[in-house]
Amino acid sequence: MYHILVTGGAGFVGSHLCDRLIQDGHAVTCLDNLFTGSKRNIEHILRHPNFTFIEADVQKPFTGQFDRIYNLACPASPPHYQHDPVETIRTNVLGMITCLELAKATGARVLQASTSEVYGDPLCHPQDETYWGNVDPTSRRACYDEGKRCAETLCFDYHREYGVDIRVVRIFNTYGPRMAKDDGRVVSNFILQALHGEPLTVYGDGSYTRSFQYVDDLVEGLVRMMETEGFTGPVNIGNPGEFTIKQLADLVIELTGSSSEITYLPPVPHDPKQRQADIALAKAKLGWEPKIELREGLKRTIDYFKSVV
Ligand code: NAD
Ligand code: UDP
Repeated sequence: MYHILVTGGAGFVGSHLCDRLIQDGHAVTCLDNLFTGSKRNIEHILRHPNFTFIEADVQKPFTGQFDRIYNLACPASPPHYQHDPVETIRTNVLGMITCLELAKATGARVLQASTSEVYGDPLCHPQDETYWGNVDPTSRRACYDEGKRCAETLCFDYHREYGVDIRVVRIFNTYGPRMAKDDGRVVSNFILQALHGEPLTVYGDGSYTRSFQYVDDLVEGLVRMMETEGFTGPVNIGNPGEFTIKQLADLVIELTGSSSEITYLPPVPHDPKQRQADIALAKAKLGWEPKIELREGLKRTIDYFKSVV
């Protein structure tokens, strides 16, 4: 049994990770300031003897003896991370330092939840880990993209300078139950719009692409990466199935049986045009690949949203 700290554990991905780690028999401490997360996501484990919730800001130094630290604390959807961009950068940079300092002092292993956004609007397709990215540091997305890039740099500098044991995972678009209703990401927006019979809002002409990963696949990838010896990453964890936003809209309308139509809104500035995970490295090093196809994952996510709307 490990003592494990999950920052951002009351969020969408973090709460599924806490569930999995408790199921595996570990003692889990969840640290979250509830900025975008919610106690509802963890209410079923709040009284579990192996679970502790601490309401705190990851930017503030934190003490405790942990074997493992998963650093997920950071708003993840564009509307949320652009709401207070300076706070987003602070959370990425200072939060990462909090985790790395704790690891340096106690010998914990740290996994950073990085992102495919480090590739920016990519000039290489699909994206593998050797690609350095195409990010405009002055854009509205930069608070997140550059914050995550700096957090990766901090991981590798603490590793080289102080020998901190690090794992860096670049997560591609992930969806599933417990996404916040006001999250603003495309999967939750489309499902909610379809369930309410409202038009599905496609930004641009619908030709931009993403590869969408179901949350259970991501959690499996995170745990495998954390427990694999001698491999710092960075490693991509995502589903290589690439879909246009129009295809996603059509699929959501089909699976919900909705009468909603699609409405085309102006494109979002600096929106990456295409994104597809190259997961050869994860397959080779972790023996990991996603199991849940988009159609199946969407059905499960639609069932969840039906139960909460
Ligand atoms: P989320 O917004 O649901 O979860 C983030 C959690 O961090 C929330 O519970 C929030 O309250 C908490 N948080 C934010 N700022 C904090 C702070 N200063 N101190 C303490 N807690 C704080 O988002 P998510 O989708 O679950 O994302 C989890 C992590 O995975 C994030 O780091 C995100 O950047 C990364 N990621 C997610 C995706 C995705 O598609 N979901 C893709 C790439 C990377
Ligand atoms: N998008 C859209 N309609 C929405 C929300 C998002 O067309 O209601 C588009 C968005 O412009 C982007 C893609 O869907 O091209 C994925 O957006 P999301 O915010 O989910 O993730 P990210 O941009 O971070 O990959």
